Amino acid sequence: MRRPLIAGNWKMNKLPSEATGWLEELLASLGGAAGEAQLLLNVPATHLAPMSRLKSDGPVELGAQDLSAHDQGAYTGEVSGAMLRDAGARYVIVGHSERRAYHHEDDELVAAKLRAAQRNELVPILCVGETERERDAGEAEGVVLRQMEGALAGLELIDANQLVVAYEPVWAIGTGRTATAADAQQMSRTVRGALERLYPQLASGIRVLYGGSMKPANAAELLAQEDIDGGLIGGASLEVDDLLAIYQAAS
Ligand code: PEP
Repeated sequence: MRRPLIAGNWKMNKLPSEATGWLEELLASLGGAAGEAQLLLNVPATHLAPMSRLKSDGPVELGAQDLSAHDQGAYTGEVSGAMLRDAGARYVIVGHSERRAYHHEDDELVAAKLRAAQRNELVPILCVGETERERDAGEAEGVVLRQMEGALAGLELIDANQLVVAYEPVWAIGTGRTATAADAQQMSRTVRGALERLYPQLASGIRVLYGGSMKPANAAELLAQEDIDGGLIGGASLEVDDLLAIYQAAS
């Protein structure tokens, strides 16, 4: 009932001119045989328009990695939700741990960005997850619940497809270390429990992704967990073969 979602996060990698050739290669490898899972690439804002022209109505969707909390005006350097949507994005990552750590995004700003995404008809992928210190201190669940409630309180949804949540333990992102399937399932269950309290009618349909060094070798086991509905994938989404192998494990 929840369609698996494989979402790449390119971070600040590849040039727009490289991205189109890469996408052509991906589309050629996929052929007409797209699987049951949904395939999404969250790319830098500069890449959206050229990639969007190329993909037409094919099996790959595009998303952004961040957006402004504001819709327009004197916010030098910011990119609005409307701009991202106009350039071809349908999804946007909000509250990634790299934004929280390097750009000091707190739950209040994350909440404002979720609302901006919703106003501009972008589906937010809300990222939550604990640091290694928080996990060692036995605070992982508390941290994730606080992030969920801080970001989502008061956000109304009318459809389960208006929100995706990614559980991403910070210590597993870009490190090659992955949560065990059992730990990832337990934390994804915690996320779904919070969704059940916030959105009792919709929670069973909202997709929860795992992110943190997912790769072809570990994807199948993680994706087989009951409350894991897909992956948010950084490093492995930069290589066509790796991304396709993960996509096939989800389909
Ligand atoms: C991410 O960027 O959200 C991520 C999970 O990265 P990686 O797969 O490289 O750990």
